[in-house]
Amino acid sequence: MLNVTGMTSAVTGRPPVIVVGAGPVGMTAAAVLAREGLRVVVVEATTEPMPDWRASTFHAATLELLERIDITPRMHAEGLVVPRYQFRDRTDGLVAEFDLTLLADETSYPYRLQLNQQRLVRFLYDRLLAEPHVDLRFGTRVTGVSDTGGAATVSAEGPDGPETITGCFVIGADGPASTVRRSLGVPFDGHTYPERFLIVSTPVDMRTRLPGLAEVNYVSDPRQWLFILHTPEAWRVLWPVPADQPPEEATRPEVIQRQLQGVAPLPGGYPVIDHQIYNVHQRVAERFRTGRVALIGDAAHINSPVGGVGLNSGIHDAVDLTLRLTRILTEGADADAELDAFEARRRRVALEYVQADTQRNTDRLRETDPAVRRRNHDDLRAIAADPDRARAWLRRVSLLESVRRFGIGTPPIEPDTHEVRIR
Ligand SMILES: Cc1cc2nc3c(=O)[nH]c(=O)nc-3n(C[C@H](O)[C@H](O)[C@H](O)COP(=O)(O)OP(=O)(O)OC[C@H]3O[C@@H](n4cnc5c(N)ncnc54)[C@H](O)[C@@H]3O)c2cc1C
Repeated sequence: MLNVTGMTSAVTGRPPVIVVGAGPVGMTAAAVLAREGLRVVVVEATTEPMPDWRASTFHAATLELLERIDITPRMHAEGLVVPRYQFRDRTDGLVAEFDLTLLADETSYPYRLQLNQQRLVRFLYDRLLAEPHVDLRFGTRVTGVSDTGGAATVSAEGPDGPETITGCFVIGADGPASTVRRSLGVPFDGHTYPERFLIVSTPVDMRTRLPGLAEVNYVSDPRQWLFILHTPEAWRVLWPVPADQPPEEATRPEVIQRQLQGVAPLPGGYPVIDHQIYNVHQRVAERFRTGRVALIGDAAHINSPVGGVGLNSGIHDAVDLTLRLTRILTEGADADAELDAFEARRRRVALEYVQADTQRNTDRLRETDPAVRRRNHDDLRAIAADPDRARAWLRRVSLLESVRRFGIGTPPIEPDTHEVRIR
């Protein structure tokens, strides 16, 4: 049983919550805690927020949650509202189109918001800079974490050498190679895809090259599947790089150009403004909490980007956990019950929604058996053609279903009595 006596008013000089990692998930966690008046120390290895292009899709449930820290209007001011997306086939063209406005009676955001991850990171950073209770320590790499019973401590290497920071709880939001997770000895089981994923950005409007294209498109093909999507800065085309092709070869300008010309010919060639190559994994941490230390975001689960749910679900983790920590620290709620509920719900969502759907999405695009491909396409067409099935599909892929089903940060409930258990 965790003892949190004496930690009920963090603003009056109690130990802070320590957030390891100032990626989008860690900074969301810090912003929610700061909004509740709690003291936070954010420890980040890099000297600046990461100018990262990885994620570009934000779903309805995430936009709803980010209202809590007033980020949603800024995201809309710079993002693209995309209500329709397509499944296509490189040979057959359009397979099925899904229309997110079917969710208009359930959410104020019946669309995908296309915005590069780096923009969200910048908005969150600006917000944290203005928060009096947040101590941002960039250029400080955490090397280990320990739960000492009454407190949680991280050891770190900062600009002035080794240091120790003590807090009431530690949030490990330090990405897929998480030092926090490793320091706790928590297994991260799953698999790594043999192929890498290469994502290339061009200012060329791909709709002029492929008529009828939507702004988000998943394109199946037995030899080389694709996804093609629009962000405010660029169009992005992603394809798999075979395991036996060295990354240096796959990213040579002539090779990238040849690939893009294979997607859709463009006389004179495509200007390329960015490219990144990634190893892609499907992995979930065996535990999401150990004593006073909890894991969120890519530190807790990592998945294929097909479907755009990795960061979204990490933000859901961050809000779930921080609402619980707020109840523990300001209302004296039962810390073990709250943290166990965090682990039970968020790990289940990671396995049953995020992992299951991204694996299925990726398999559908890369399927080589012609009969299975035909069946997949028929299924997608049938779902898209039936408004009830399409709506159920869209609730699931936009993560609304998991949020409505498990709640975010809702108090632990006694299974027999349904009483809310806050002490
Ligand atoms: C090609 C691609 C496309 C994607 N598209 C989408 C999408 O459209 N939608 C979506 O939801 N998701 C998408 N994702 C996934 C998304 O990018 C990640 O889920 C997201 O970045 C996770 O955020 P995070 O804050 O948990 O981790 P990270 O962004 O990895 O941040 C972790 C932070 O911790 C810091 N750190 C690491 N170690 C230490 C340490 N020891 N001490 C201190 N700091 C440390 C790092 O420097 C970093 O700043 C995509 C991923 C890829 C690869």
